[in-house]
Amino acid sequence: MAQSDKTTPKYAIAIHGGAGAMSRLKKNPHLKEQYLRALDTALHIGSEVLKDGGTALDAVEKVVRYLEDNRLFNAGKGSVANALGEYELDASIMDGKTLLAGAVAGVSRIRHPISAARAVMEKTPHVLIAGTGAEALAEKWGLEMVDPAFFHGNVPSPSSPSLDDQLPLDKWGTVGCVALDQYGNLAAGTSTGGLSKKHPGRIGDSPIIGAGTYADNATCAVSCTGVGEYFIRLAIAHDLSARMKYKNLPLSQAATEALQRLSAHQGKGGFIAIDTSGNIVTPFNTPAMFRAYQTPDGQRHIAIFPD
Ligand code: ASP
Repeated sequence: MAQSDKTTPKYAIAIHGGAGAMSRLKKNPHLKEQYLRALDTALHIGSEVLKDGGTALDAVEKVVRYLEDNRLFNAGKGSVANALGEYELDASIMDGKTLLAGAVAGVSRIRHPISAARAVMEKTPHVLIAGTGAEALAEKWGLEMVDPAFFHGNVPSPSSPSLDDQLPLDKWGTVGCVALDQYGNLAAGTSTGGLSKKHPGRIGDSPIIGAGTYADNATCAVSCTGVGEYFIRLAIAHDLSARMKYKNLPLSQAATEALQRLSAHQGKGGFIAIDTSGNIVTPFNTPAMFRAYQTPDGQRHIAIFPD
């Protein structure tokens, strides 16, 4: 676990880009480099927001928007298709100060589902809005709308292997971000295209508050990635927070226990979490997880495979 100096909490941030096997990356250093560079850029975007006095919510939204636009990741533009070849995106965001939260599920026309999730939180009394209802609101609010064909990938360049040729079919890359701002507030956000070839209408953990995303200034902010059904059934994001609250555990121990519980139920994946002292954990039980973080004392860490 990254430890912080408890007397000088400033700001800190952690990012994930999905968990999985990723064995193909070991044979493709160029692609691996692209992922590391994208994580580095995302970390930079988020830490600049926080350095300039932006809120944790602002940092989370901006980082996730960047990752939603990056086709390396299974979120936004890079989302994987369902069994019918259609795109149904999910996202959620939560404010640790107020415990307000917002989410969208199964949307096909919103370019940045994380911003729609934030708008649900800020502009409605609801937490989760799905499908065409969410799209109608996003349009009304002036969020960027796209034709569903937008998510169908780019035309491959004839001169170089396309990104699609390099990426595995079962692409990893749900994205998430957790942040601590200079005001001592936490936020968490998660965005995904869901599981590749999922049943049409299937919703995973990413837009479910308490499953894929949770934030509470009294405990931690957390964003999960992995096979969503396990994270929903075990309420992993809230489970982590509850272990800190009810058992009075530090983040590191609560995270170890939450991951052990996931593993005990054969759940695969991982999560990133941060507390109000800027302590950060990034545990996973898959062979790899894209992750990056910056501690309150400015130390940066970017990794894919176990350290
Ligand atoms: N948790 C996501 C879902 O089940 C997928 C992922 O994290 O890769 O929809």
